[in-house]
Amino acid sequence: MSGFILAIDQGTTSTRAIVFSGDGRILGVGQQEFQQHFPRSGWVEHDGEEIWNSVVTTIRFALSNAKVAASDIAGIGITNQRETTLIWDRASGAPIHHAIVWQDRRTADLCDRLKGEGAEPMVTARTGLLLDPYFAGTKIAWLLDNVEGAREKAERGELAFGTVDSFLLWRLTGGKVHATDATNAARTLLYDIGTGEWDDELLALFRVPRALLPEVMDCAADFGVTDPALFGAAIPIAGIAGDQHAATLGQACFTPGMMKATYGTGCFALLNTGTERVPSTNRLLTTIAYRLDGRTTYALEGSIFVAGSAVQWLRDGLHLIDRAEASGPMAAAADPHQDVYLVPAFTGLGAPWWDARARGAMFGLTRGTGPREIVRAALESVCFQTRDLLDAMKRDWQGGGETVLRVDGGMVASDWTMQRLADILEAPVDRPVVLETTALGAAWLAGRQTGTWPDEAGFAENWRRERRFEPAMEAAERDARIAGWHDAVRRTLTF
Ligand code: ADP
Repeated sequence: MSGFILAIDQGTTSTRAIVFSGDGRILGVGQQEFQQHFPRSGWVEHDGEEIWNSVVTTIRFALSNAKVAASDIAGIGITNQRETTLIWDRASGAPIHHAIVWQDRRTADLCDRLKGEGAEPMVTARTGLLLDPYFAGTKIAWLLDNVEGAREKAERGELAFGTVDSFLLWRLTGGKVHATDATNAARTLLYDIGTGEWDDELLALFRVPRALLPEVMDCAADFGVTDPALFGAAIPIAGIAGDQHAATLGQACFTPGMMKATYGTGCFALLNTGTERVPSTNRLLTTIAYRLDGRTTYALEGSIFVAGSAVQWLRDGLHLIDRAEASGPMAAAADPHQDVYLVPAFTGLGAPWWDARARGAMFGLTRGTGPREIVRAALESVCFQTRDLLDAMKRDWQGGGETVLRVDGGMVASDWTMQRLADILEAPVDRPVVLETTALGAAWLAGRQTGTWPDEAGFAENWRRERRFEPAMEAAERDARIAGWHDAVRRTLTF
């Protein structure tokens, strides 16, 4: 068997398709951006048809780029932007409305009302999530209440709900399969992550008819085969996981205590807690890391809204740098005696603070402060925020042992930032050879399911570190800087 695997990475701003060889090398890539719709302040939508077209186009491109025929692909793995919500007509396959994207805040009032009614503890106990517009549940209710006739059709079983993975699976199989995987189900507010079932009380709370819902499967499973009319062969779809979960797999974080952080626009950190479902008392999320062979592995998750986007702000907003790569060298040249802090709460602060009303602030400015100190403060803010997440995780769960952080995403190209991250965390930071960890994780699921790629142990053995950053900062300096950061956060919070 050839072992070629095709990964579909359906992200928030672009779709990528990647053909991997049996030994995990990238043979061909297709990528396409698509339109972001902002119909009102705080609303974000995608056109499901445009997403679908981008998937078909990038797959065809990746196959031709890799010079691999569809019939040589052993399996497809899908990874996707999480929480983004679609409802489509089962008869025609057409979405009844644009997809409501994870960033969309239109259901904030509904979430506040449900919180006011005291629903959050029950929701958190079953789903591991918080009552926030970020997740799918209230987005589904909004669609049913605002698209004419939708609720009646849904009650009659004529409509289907899915996160993006599920919609793509439906389309790829020519409308034959309506399913999702446990990691995507775990982001809907409707799924009990303990029992592994859609929960009737949650369905009633969010007023979602059961007839809308997909079947929930393991991350590695026989999901169906592609309609041969699409790519010229019936390719098995054999893996699905949400993007952060796929990255956790791609980083081979299979053992409890292992942790990955992805530094793209924002930053998402997941800590594998094994079979233990750890409730958070520090406003982190409890989520399903992955489910394999019917066995659920859990994780604690923390998200930071601004990571790489702080670097974009330095470039496009302040014009302090002309390229992202220039940020590290500039930070290295900053005056070590100046304590400048940037709290990048451009869209509020995420975990563990969750202050939606906070806005960014800078502290410690003197007459001597210049572009270098501001650039350094921006890069350091990502390190401090990661430290806050890690500390919250340690308070929630003592089972971790020694921390090593595996990192990926565009921002990890910065050596200066990675060294500073290790210094601030007091923990080693490992950067892998293959930085396409999200797509690799999805590919691994399909490779495992089709028996063409190694199992967990074999895959973990093949994971290669490009470089380890060891903490080197003096304890006194580190403690002083962390105290300075917390002082800055305290002065930024609105409560
Ligand atoms: P996403 O998937 O969220 O679009 P990526 O993983 O592609 O993001 O990462 C892109 C981000 O990384 C950008 O915000 C960019 O500013 C940042 N970035 C890229 N290269 C560097 C670098 N050398 N130093 C610092 N930041 C960088």
